[in-house]
Amino acid sequence: MTLFSNTNDNWTVQDSSALYGLDKWGEHYFSINNKGNINVTPKGKSSGSLDLMNLVEEIEGRNLSLPLLIRFDEILEDRLDRLHKAFEEAITKYKYKGFYQGVFPVKCNHQRYVLEEVVNYGKKWNFGLEAGSKAELIIALSLIQNPKALLICNGYKDQRYIETAILARQLGRKPIVVIEQADEIDRIILASKELGAPPLIGIRAKLSSQSSGRWGASIGTNAKFGLSIPEILETVEKLSNSELINELCLLHFHVGSQINNIAIHKDALQEAGHIYTELCRLGAPMGYLDVGGGLGVDYDGSRTPTAASTNYSLQNYANDIVATIQECCASSNTKLPTLVSESGRAIVSHSSVLIFNILGSSFVSTDTKSADKGESLTIKNLRETLASIKQIQDENNIDIPRLQEAWTDAIKFKDDALVAFRLGYLSLTERAIAEKLTWACAQALLDQLPEEISLPTELEQLSSIMSGTYYANLSVFRSAPDTWAIKQLFPIMPIHRLQEKPNKLGHLADLTCDSDGKIDQFINNGQVKNLLELHDIKANETYLIGMFLGGAYQEVMGNLHNLFGSTNTVHVRLNNKNRYQLNHVIRGDTKSDVIKAMEHQPNELLERLRIATEEAIQLGNLKIKDAQLLMDHLETSLNQSTYLRR
Ligand SMILES: *Cc1c(COP(=O)(O)O)cnc(C)c1O
Repeated sequence: MTLFSNTNDNWTVQDSSALYGLDKWGEHYFSINNKGNINVTPKGKSSGSLDLMNLVEEIEGRNLSLPLLIRFDEILEDRLDRLHKAFEEAITKYKYKGFYQGVFPVKCNHQRYVLEEVVNYGKKWNFGLEAGSKAELIIALSLIQNPKALLICNGYKDQRYIETAILARQLGRKPIVVIEQADEIDRIILASKELGAPPLIGIRAKLSSQSSGRWGASIGTNAKFGLSIPEILETVEKLSNSELINELCLLHFHVGSQINNIAIHKDALQEAGHIYTELCRLGAPMGYLDVGGGLGVDYDGSRTPTAASTNYSLQNYANDIVATIQECCASSNTKLPTLVSESGRAIVSHSSVLIFNILGSSFVSTDTKSADKGESLTIKNLRETLASIKQIQDENNIDIPRLQEAWTDAIKFKDDALVAFRLGYLSLTERAIAEKLTWACAQALLDQLPEEISLPTELEQLSSIMSGTYYANLSVFRSAPDTWAIKQLFPIMPIHRLQEKPNKLGHLADLTCDSDGKIDQFINNGQVKNLLELHDIKANETYLIGMFLGGAYQEVMGNLHNLFGSTNTVHVRLNNKNRYQLNHVIRGDTKSDVIKAMEHQPNELLERLRIATEEAIQLGNLKIKDAQLLMDHLETSLNQSTYLRR
């Protein structure tokens, strides 16, 4: 990767689209308009679109400061439409005599307005929810009122959890208690006896198929969840003995999240398909096969079996599920099950965009004053090297070996300068001049290196040497925890100035006082790059960056490191063409909120400070007016966002 020279010739928004991979991962949701801003088109061309930059400015105009999480409810709807359409097409294509009926795993995004949107929009398909804990179960039970929608009960289950599910069944809901641990069966039997009513029962199978990727350990014999084949057989026997076998209606498996390779889905489906037919043969009524989550998101758009991508489409996934299960059941004459999936990531990722501003940037300094008399030899050498590089440029023929020689010379002279400094022969000022001259050499070289050809390593590294740090008004730990915790890649790019060639390379540093609080891994078409192409920051304009496809898992995993709280969040819906409304505004945490979360009392803190100001006034160290100013600042600040103001 080379740093671009300063020319802007012929740069178009298409070039930006290709550079940031937007033409691949943006699907039809995100594109660049001719002003060079990102355009959002939630439901395809017919439904209108809006300029993201405009939107952000207008949201800020409502006194909602950055960083800002924007949720596009219609993108969420479009994801649900597409999921169902894919299964409908597959069912038609393979003439599958059965249905698809999905659920959304609550753990993927618990936020109220997200779940309400999923449940309301999903009604037409009897779309349900999946819960993995008792708290999630309470949310799921109260949100789903449709008696046909499934409520898959996963996770560790104590007696109360199971009893809640049994009673909810009598409420007219459809909770299915999925046995994940071998001993849960005993609690189910006990609870059924005590309440005189059984729950609907499912079994989670521990598959032996090999998975891969980050969540590969979700299956296989050492997986945390699911029953092994001997355990499944014992469970079926216990269900028969306690006359609960007629409630066994579902087989579940989950191969892990973000499955990159379709081959893993296929293997798991075949294995699960045959377990399903065996369970029918053993006398269970069955009826549902739940293929879990794992439908991947193509974060970099490369369509490869790499961590940030997948080598299959949604249609490909639906086709394989329908065809494989059809085949497994046909060979044993088993009645086809209703197919259930628990896709989380694939449903919510696209709908959220995180926008943050850049507070400033830092680059090495290349400003070189003219020579002082009596400069030391190393500095003279560096000046000569710089002059020689500029001369090569003036001659206007690219001479790679000469450029390489000049750079290795410059490095040598810089090292000489360091040694001289250490030994006391060079002053601090001279050392600074030596460093600036070295960086000036690097910049002068970069300005004339061609972009397209492969370069010697020393010259190749110049662009990263000259790269900068962009300070982002953001906490990685709060808003993009997976970039830190598991090195997940999200598409990240400026949301404006895209008609302009980005002429800098940089990484992002966040607001926390933690050296891990940075983003230095970016999507790169199936690979990873450590630096992102960015623009020079202008003095009179805020530079805005978007992090895309982050709608899954980030909010709940985010933490309060350095007490940066939640960001402002808005739900946007386009009404008629290109107009929009903010359906919900969720104000981010104030400083008071995050301070309280750590058991401090903001009022007590203020009172302590007020007493301190009184003492300082008594001692004559502080004027009453200034004491009041300080108290006003503190009080106002407590009620404001934890982030920096633009
Ligand atoms: C996490 C989880 C899911 C969701 O997985 P995605 O990869 O986000 O689709 C589904 N089912 C179970 C049991 C899970 O634990």
